[in-house]
Amino acid sequence: MANKVHAVGIDLGTTYSCVAVWQEQHSRVEIIHNDQGNKTTPSFVAFTQDDRLIGNAAKNQAATNPQNTVFDAKRLIGRKFCDSVVQKDTILWPFKVIAGFNDKPMISVMYKGEEKHLYPEEISSMILSKMRDIAEEYLESPVKNAVITVPAYFNDSQRKATVDAGSIAGLNVLRIINEPTAAAIAYGLEKRADCVGERNIFVFDLGGGTFDVSLLTIKGKVFEVKATSGNTHLGGEDFDYRMVNYFAKEFKRKHKKDISENPRALRRLRTACEKAKRALSFSSVTVVEVDSLYDGVDFFSSITRAKFEEINMDFFKECMRIVESCLTDAKMDKSSVHDVVLVGGSSRIPKVQQLLRAIFNGKDLCKSINPDEAVAYGAAVQAALLSDGFKNVPDMVLQDVTPLSLGWMLEDDIMGVVIPRNTSIPVKRTEEFYTVQDSQSSVLIDVYEGERMRASCNNFLGSFKLCDLPLVAKGHPFHVCFDIDQNGILTVSAMEKWTGNMSKITITNEKGRLSTKEVEKLIQEAEDYRVEDKKFLRKAELLNELDECIYKMRNDLNLTSDENEKINSLIAMAENLLDEDRPQIGIDFLEDNLNKIKRMKESIISRTR
Ligand code: AMP
Repeated sequence: MANKVHAVGIDLGTTYSCVAVWQEQHSRVEIIHNDQGNKTTPSFVAFTQDDRLIGNAAKNQAATNPQNTVFDAKRLIGRKFCDSVVQKDTILWPFKVIAGFNDKPMISVMYKGEEKHLYPEEISSMILSKMRDIAEEYLESPVKNAVITVPAYFNDSQRKATVDAGSIAGLNVLRIINEPTAAAIAYGLEKRADCVGERNIFVFDLGGGTFDVSLLTIKGKVFEVKATSGNTHLGGEDFDYRMVNYFAKEFKRKHKKDISENPRALRRLRTACEKAKRALSFSSVTVVEVDSLYDGVDFFSSITRAKFEEINMDFFKECMRIVESCLTDAKMDKSSVHDVVLVGGSSRIPKVQQLLRAIFNGKDLCKSINPDEAVAYGAAVQAALLSDGFKNVPDMVLQDVTPLSLGWMLEDDIMGVVIPRNTSIPVKRTEEFYTVQDSQSSVLIDVYEGERMRASCNNFLGSFKLCDLPLVAKGHPFHVCFDIDQNGILTVSAMEKWTGNMSKITITNEKGRLSTKEVEKLIQEAEDYRVEDKKFLRKAELLNELDECIYKMRNDLNLTSDENEKINSLIAMAENLLDEDRPQIGIDFLEDNLNKIKRMKESIISRTR
């Protein structure tokens, strides 16, 4: 497989990410493990005085460096700073979020002693680069192409910001696909062999930060999404925060101390709560222990499963409401659903499973696929299908839907829907509209997505004008066409038939999205980070080698006194190098000196033999 350009599937999660590849020799998907041997990698990026860390290394030092350890970038991506969701989150996060150009949120960290401002896309791109590195290491060849998954309920800005994150990471994003659809591919391919006729699959995907449901029908090789729904801000992290609040109050009551302003204490309590939450999926009570949580006071408490369920019940009920709404949208009776498939780490919560089972009249839930890996699995199959030269890829066709209604602002701020939500894509729809004034010479077309009747309450996507209309009485017709391609990219055009005048807009560079120039600049910066990271790693290796070399030389100190003296002076030279102010010392200088020390040591030792 040397030199083959691989295509991978990446599940870019709020809390964990996962990468997978289609292995044609074995005709199956391989979930790729990281350098720690884990198949999922924390979606964390940390900045320190010397270094940038991604994944496990970043998460492991989060408690000691909370202000500069960034997570949850997926909760920021494609949103505005003024968004109420962003405002609420920033209160809980230990890192700082500020308003950037065009009200885009930016994360502020200290890196190498300087304040740096980063877009959420940049943080996501760093996680994507890490996932690519993991894949390249495993495959021992370059990875350029990727299918990246997003929550089905992500809006247009969130999807495009994810594509930008991929570009900044130097990836060619073959397609963005919906997480529950990807999971359905994983499930469907396993099941297809023993499935006759049509099979209706309901995917329940409750992850760390987002919640999605999709109803699909599998018929032969066609996977057709019937409806999808969700909440892009609902998941395991919200359950963790509830528990943190619960225990913070308890701590205040017991010890009269408020930890809410202390990022380090909050981070440590959150880690303990997440662990407790996982334990409660298997036992009915668990302890929460944090040594020296605040002001030297240890925290020790316990929580029952019942209490955990009580403090999160409104979230669980919201999940069930979304399940019902998806079934209604698909116009499918629950009794027609063959399989209810659980995906996402939080789908392991027993209460969630119990409520879901009740909706489906006590039906057994399918737990046969790994909830942490299924999404990357499906993305890897799709990546192989979209690339040339992959053998033995399962034959399948994916038909997805648009998660949100698309339309434009009519008179009185009314949302004129042209493509209702849950319409299969690709799709092209043209509708006739009429001028509203006599001698109206132009029409402004403001494009929105969302479910609110008032257009301005929805997500604004872009705007254009149809000009030079014939100056006739009001009620003159013109056509507006909405066209969504396979990638969910929307083009809106408008045309007046008498004059043949036409205008259109492809919704790609709307306000809030990074411009091509900005993306190019960030690609360059990402490359600079990569080079810096490599340098840092090389320097760490050299310092290690130097340490090892000193250790060995110490062991050699049983030679004649003359040689011992020479070895001792080499040790002093090496220790001097190690003692130097690290950021100042150059890699070449270090390498040259290490080699010199090694050579001198060899020549001393060989003379004694
Ligand atoms: P995902 O985004 O699918 O990787 O899911 C990650 C979320 O699942 C995190 O919030 C985890 O805390 C949560 N999670 C993982 N395992 C469990 C478990 N056994 N019980 C409850 N939540 C879990």
